[in-house]
Amino acid sequence: MQQLIKNFFIFVLCIAPIASIEAGGRPIVLLLLGVPGSGRDALAVKISSSFSLPYISTADLLLDYSDDDSEIGHFTRECLNTGRIPDDLLMKLILERIKQQDCAKGFLLDGFPKTVEQAKALNVRFSQEYCMLPTYIRTSDQWLLCCHEGRLICTSCGRVYHQDRSPPHTEGECDLCGYELTQRSDDCPETLKKRTETHRDTILPLVSFYTEEKMLVEINGDRPFDEMFQDVKMLINSKR
Ligand SMILES: [Zn+2]
Repeated sequence: MQQLIKNFFIFVLCIAPIASIEAGGRPIVLLLLGVPGSGRDALAVKISSSFSLPYISTADLLLDYSDDDSEIGHFTRECLNTGRIPDDLLMKLILERIKQQDCAKGFLLDGFPKTVEQAKALNVRFSQEYCMLPTYIRTSDQWLLCCHEGRLICTSCGRVYHQDRSPPHTEGECDLCGYELTQRSDDCPETLKKRTETHRDTILPLVSFYTEEKMLVEINGDRPFDEMFQDVKMLINSKR
């Protein structure tokens, strides 16, 4: 009898994780990877509002918790003062934040992971219970340079438009928040190239990691914003 009970528990333990994976409808963790100018930020804002997935930025979390009178708040302040932010702290802040009800169906994570170490830690913590979607917006330098010419940016939410390729519905006005659009003129092509390279140096190791893990979703970023949005929309809907 004892052996029977033992076998039963082994059976339950083995079947449980498989059952939860097959059940589908797991909450989504969307990670958008892309260089500045790829449309990544605007895409994040639009997806967050369209799917009611909270946009969780680790930079915002650090600021929010630095005002908090809790133990974690004190520690956050200390770390901000020294300028050294341990990965453990960022993970703790994320775990605290996602306890809130609005994250029940998933969330969009910004600012984490930035290193392969962080990506591994995220996988350990989330890949069982959540559907992780690391999504890379691949853009060519030619596209970034072309887009750069007619680039318009919302002064409030940061959504990026292009006067020919993805113009706003009303000229000079943001579709999302109605604020004024401006042309960023402080970047010459050389500055743009350098900034792109710096960001690619951070992103590409993550792209390789997620490729090896067979998790990476890649979308073609050399296209108007709305087409990219449709791709990500289909991706999320296919996982729900
Ligand atoms: Zn806006």
